[in-house]
Amino acid sequence: RRKWKRVVGVLKELEEACETPVGRLRQVVDAMAVEMHAGLASEGGSKLKMLLTFVDHLPTGSEIGTYYALDFGGTNFRVLRVQLGGRRSSILSQDVEQRPIPQHLMTSTSEDLFDFIASTLKQFVEKEENGSEPSSVRARELGLTFSFPVRQLSIHSGILIKWTKGFAIEDMVGKEVVGLLEAALVRSGLDMRAAVLVNDAVGTLALGHYDDADTVAAVIIGTGTNACYLERADAIIKCQGHLITSGCMAVNMEWGNFWSSHLPRTSYDIDLDLESPNPNDQGFEKMISGIYLGDIVRRVILRMSQESDIFGPVSSRLSIPFILQAPLLAAMHEDDSPELKEVDKILKETLEISEVSLKVRKLVVRICDVVTRRAARLAAAGIGGILKKIGRDGSGGGVAGGRSRSDPEMRRTVVAIEGGLYTSYMMFREYLHEALNEILGEDVAQHVILKVTEDGSGIGGALLAAANSSSS
Ligand code: ADP
Repeated sequence: RRKWKRVVGVLKELEEACETPVGRLRQVVDAMAVEMHAGLASEGGSKLKMLLTFVDHLPTGSEIGTYYALDFGGTNFRVLRVQLGGRRSSILSQDVEQRPIPQHLMTSTSEDLFDFIASTLKQFVEKEENGSEPSSVRARELGLTFSFPVRQLSIHSGILIKWTKGFAIEDMVGKEVVGLLEAALVRSGLDMRAAVLVNDAVGTLALGHYDDADTVAAVIIGTGTNACYLERADAIIKCQGHLITSGCMAVNMEWGNFWSSHLPRTSYDIDLDLESPNPNDQGFEKMISGIYLGDIVRRVILRMSQESDIFGPVSSRLSIPFILQAPLLAAMHEDDSPELKEVDKILKETLEISEVSLKVRKLVVRICDVVTRRAARLAAAGIGGILKKIGRDGSGGGVAGGRSRSDPEMRRTVVAIEGGLYTSYMMFREYLHEALNEILGEDVAQHVILKVTEDGSGIGGALLAAANSSSS
């Protein structure tokens, strides 16, 4: 009995530390908007990098012709060929090929990596064009979606700041990415030019805008999390001196690195951070994104197991980082069988914890709920921060497009969204929507639409190549 009491104590402590009443969420919203300002004011002004993208106009639907894209951001890379019909949402056809990056190339040289990519691309192009006369094909253009931290120099060039996700090609850090790709294209004999260099969030914003002109921001909540949005050029103080023709620019927030003392942090978060390869980095992401959520839950179960015998002898599996992945967490959380069979199965098969009572299985579901709910509500607060910054939160604070005396109606506002955590985890999605409604209030929330796009990182790259084509 005393043991159970201890476990209840651990749960209570977790619940309290993870609390996100709407008042606290609003503090996070405000902090996000403040940090956005600071990051736009000067380089290094905030933990939010607010990277310039030089994307100053988004696809509108008028794009026409055939464009290529290369999506490189993790263990796989993809090549795409997209045919655009010249009207909104009129993608006539798309062909995609996916290839895993061979393990040895992840730590090799930039030349080896890009030669491999260029030869894959060349084979793809030759297959797709299938013998059509080279002269009949006008200069091929490509959008490169490169989802690693890049300092952009222009819309079609940028320097790799550092590698993430297991890559370690040292000669490439500090180098200009598109130049390396184009040199490899020349070596391979493929006539193709990279018209844009973007990341997955910017690609998602582009695809969102192609489908719906009211799209102002894009959010990714998958393995990691990030966001980008359209900002007025005159609000980007650190951009002065660069020429922006259209009056606005997409800003890549790198919001995973956001931090605020208002974030509800637990001892599990602190330990996870300390034991990570990047302590003190990506604090917001570590509370929200798919790769971390299961690991927070694992840490809670481990602690309960150490403090009591309700899980039987402490399973050594509980000490393996990242053993409990987000889809498993979701499956336990959403288990609606009366006996919680799915929870039982996952505890047995993944964590080697067997023969636990229904009461203990319910406790596990509760832990999943607390951790996921906090994550979803914080993501909602992040979105609220963007809307506040651009004056679409109904407070009338912004200049462009908020509520104003001349425009009493709140404008329709679309946020493009992608990532498996949002699209495949229903409870996460519902908690996020609920929190956004609380933050904005019903009146404003009804004008804000979260719209799932499909393959912004691939198709969005091709669309941006089209929108920035040398022939357009
Ligand atoms: P990535 O972010 O890796 O580019 P995705 O956007 O497809 O790719 O997101 C995949 C991530 O989404 C997984 O790492 C996992 O964290 C999460 N995820 C995928 N499916 C589910 C699911 N059914 N339930 C919960 N999370 C999921």
